[in-house]
Amino acid sequence: MIQSTYSVVPTSRLEALSQLPNVLEPGHFDVLYEPSIGEDVCIADQKCKRCEARIFDKCATTETQWVCAFCNTYNDLSEKPISVSYTSSMEGNTGISPVLVVVDLNCDDSSELKALHSVLSQSLHQLSATEFGLITIIGNGDVTIHLTSGPMTFSSDDSTIVTKAQKLDWEHFEKKLPDKSVLWQSAENLVGILGTLNSVKRSSGQRHIRATGLALFLAALYANSGTHLPVISFLQGPCTIGPGKVVPKKLKHHIRQHYDLDSNKDKYFKPAKSFYEALAKRIYMHTFISSLDQVGVVEMMPLCSSAIQFDSYGEDRFATAFRSQAQDIVQVSKVTVNVSKGILVDGCFGKVTKLSATQQIYSDTPCGVSGTNCWALNTSKPSLSFSLRVDTAATKASSIDTIPGHLAIQFQYEYQKGKERYVKVDTLIVATTNHEMSTPTSIQDSFNAHVGLVCLMKQIAFEQAAKGRIHSFDQETWRYKVDALAASHYKLKSKGLNEFLEYLFRLKWTALLQKRNTSPDEAALFQLLVLVGTASLCELLCKPHVLIFANGQKLQVTNLDEHLLHVREAICVDGGNFVVVRYTSVSENADIATSYANSIVNTRCPPPIFKKTPVGGSQDRFFVSSLIPQGGLNTEDISLQDYLDLIRKMSLDV
Ligand SMILES: [Zn+2]
Repeated sequence: MIQSTYSVVPTSRLEALSQLPNVLEPGHFDVLYEPSIGEDVCIADQKCKRCEARIFDKCATTETQWVCAFCNTYNDLSEKPISVSYTSSMEGNTGISPVLVVVDLNCDDSSELKALHSVLSQSLHQLSATEFGLITIIGNGDVTIHLTSGPMTFSSDDSTIVTKAQKLDWEHFEKKLPDKSVLWQSAENLVGILGTLNSVKRSSGQRHIRATGLALFLAALYANSGTHLPVISFLQGPCTIGPGKVVPKKLKHHIRQHYDLDSNKDKYFKPAKSFYEALAKRIYMHTFISSLDQVGVVEMMPLCSSAIQFDSYGEDRFATAFRSQAQDIVQVSKVTVNVSKGILVDGCFGKVTKLSATQQIYSDTPCGVSGTNCWALNTSKPSLSFSLRVDTAATKASSIDTIPGHLAIQFQYEYQKGKERYVKVDTLIVATTNHEMSTPTSIQDSFNAHVGLVCLMKQIAFEQAAKGRIHSFDQETWRYKVDALAASHYKLKSKGLNEFLEYLFRLKWTALLQKRNTSPDEAALFQLLVLVGTASLCELLCKPHVLIFANGQKLQVTNLDEHLLHVREAICVDGGNFVVVRYTSVSENADIATSYANSIVNTRCPPPIFKKTPVGGSQDRFFVSSLIPQGGLNTEDISLQDYLDLIRKMSLDV
């Protein structure tokens, strides 16, 4: 599915400047891309010999040829697609990468390791990989690589090891390590080894002596050059020794908070961050953290394709999350964009890496991962936001000859399923103001508030998670940009204006734009969730979905204000990463609300945290603050009505 923030785009510079507001600068618009895979019947793969765009249902055809909609080249036709979205099987496959599993054994509670072992023995074989490596983080800063020839341990007490790893001296370690062939083994073997290991308790007054950075460095040694090795890590606390250390082992020292990062007072932060950034050139990591405390997610963010925190590996949420994430872990996919003349690609906002461009159709605007039309990514469920620029003509009159009434945007998503490689092709046609049905307000009348919100959220999350711009000043700048965007839309009376303004009002109150009530790790996890999550998840993170259960019926509430606090019926609030059920008494309606909440927890990935609370119970403040920005804890905030007044006043100056 491709959705554009605008289904009608400008053709002249004046239209672009005055009618296409954007946080970047006027004249850009955003497109959301979420390919739905695995549902189509495959048709023959037909790629344009000149520009590598693929055929779609609106392409002109003769009996034997099809005309490329992007470069007008004639190509041989074997089969015309009958829908705008289809899948083709591709020739050749890239092989399946082995997976490195990193297990942190540092935990006071031995049942954690047992619970982890139980989930891995049931689910590790569900990964499409057939070869696995195992590295364990053991006590006293030691790290063990489990080879088929026996274990090999590296100690953080050895200053040569620590210094060489810190300096990323790959050669030093490559000489020491035995051949890669003795690392990879079957899922069954790995689970067998894990079953023989014991967890390590800490000394009193101290944190565990945990060499996470060294373990990930050793993992990165196994990446083949030019490719990223998938790593799954199971961490139970912060790195306290060696490269990548985020906090000292003595408990009297606290891990950094927002204040320390803003004032540049934490001496571990920058070295750790750059160390993990360097590893991100060789590995990518899905991490499952069994600790609700901070473990250094902010520092490890460059590595993380996904990161989920749990209270314990014994939680059902963990087993569910691991199973649903399993198919993503070894996915190597690729997205390519083709656009009609008249549109330029600025960049992609997502967990992606830049590949060589297949076409010179990109702008020089630094925007997301930019300077190409082609990206690599590691997920089977991408949700990506793209910024595009309208390559407008100087005047309306001169645009008539150069820009047609319709422009096309095509996404090609190449992915692996089992041993086969497929490409999913989606094409979106947008109208331009040169279209015969166009009116002076066509552009703003075609605005999509939902897509506008999600693309904006991903753009902010990208700046924070990928670029590391997490200072309070950066957030303040974003809050200002959000208000300016709101004022521009207000002035233009964009379609869905009220809905969009409420979204922006709520967005300013999320962990993307506020630091209160979160730790740096919680904020980082939220950014990652927005960056990789689906559009519907992003919407929930901004504005929760609220249902009232009464008389066996469920009723959706869109007006989230104080009156909800006085509702006596059972309520279910779905905030994307949490679900709360609130009730006055144990009743059938409360049971229905609970089973509805459970169905969300069991089907969403990552599974949200579930809370159930009686009215006035201990979680009631959480319930209140999750619904109403200006209520509960946050009395200094303005109400939605005050915000709308403010935006109206601002719009007079736009
Ligand atoms: Zn072509």
